[in-house]
Amino acid sequence: MRIEQISRRLHDLGAKTCHEQRVLRGWIQRRPLDAGRRPAEHFLPQSIRNALPELMAELDGLARLNSAHPGDDGSSRLLVELADGQTVESVLLPRDGLCVSSQLGCAVGCVFCMTGKDGLLRQLGSAEIVAQVALARSMRRVTKVVFMGMGEPAHNIDNVIEAIEFLGTIGGIGHKNLVFSTVGDPRVFERLPQMTVKPALALSLHSSLPALREKLLPRAPRIAPAELVELGERYARATGYPIQYQWTLIEGVNDSEEEMEGIVRLLTGKYAIMNLIPYNAVPELEFRRPSWERAAELGRWLHRRGVLTKLRHSAGQDVDAGCGQLRARSIRIERR
Ligand code: SF4
Repeated sequence: MRIEQISRRLHDLGAKTCHEQRVLRGWIQRRPLDAGRRPAEHFLPQSIRNALPELMAELDGLARLNSAHPGDDGSSRLLVELADGQTVESVLLPRDGLCVSSQLGCAVGCVFCMTGKDGLLRQLGSAEIVAQVALARSMRRVTKVVFMGMGEPAHNIDNVIEAIEFLGTIGGIGHKNLVFSTVGDPRVFERLPQMTVKPALALSLHSSLPALREKLLPRAPRIAPAELVELGERYARATGYPIQYQWTLIEGVNDSEEEMEGIVRLLTGKYAIMNLIPYNAVPELEFRRPSWERAAELGRWLHRRGVLTKLRHSAGQDVDAGCGQLRARSIRIERR
């Protein structure tokens, strides 16, 4: 379901824009409709008040909690059930953040990711994306939303843009606290600068070597790392937010001196933050996680060479933290 369909339904019930915003704000910000200076019964037309219980139940049914898996780091991985019974993952992050999914499965097929294994199963509608935020807010505060869960947001760009515009206005989230994460797709650099709500941008780089990057991200658009960084830099300068480069650090694959030199070459002088994220090993895949000490040493080395680098945990790594791993496990259990 898309947000525009909800709006159309409200309009068909006689809602004006102010009524529609009141109802949608109540849903996404978990505000009781009977609170405030003018409670709903004095504000909304009778036709809408009559339809509200059914509509709210339907909106809440777009994303229901199947199970929560708290980690030691203050995060919690959520297995979220959609209205058709399919499941996606969201992650409650420390400091009021939430990571949401934008697709069921993913067509990019990164070789180190469980989500990409079965390809794309279906797109999520914009309402299903924001419903993950409404669900998380029923559990605790959310002031930052990152589109880094299952799926490649650029492959579902209309729905993701609609969700971002909604969250940055009616959803009450600061624009730079909305983070569009992508492997890099020309559509992103055409569409994002035209948005009213301009999100921050995270680019998954993973390698500075074009041939290795093509191997690791087999169906990502063929944009060379240097060109991707140039496109990112233009967006960073236009918005005033640095680009966050994501680098899943895999032992013996992209942690070499050549790669670190490559990062320095690409990012020197750029408005950028390099996030080194040690890979979470999963039994199904052959890749290995480097030690934290080794990752920290690489981070310090990059820092000394002038690249602003942060070493990051993948949230909830003690609880099936690889993207798509929780869903994969739940499907395995169901099939038993
Ligand atoms: Fe898709 Fe992201 Fe997984 Fe790559 S890492 S396959 S882009 S979900």
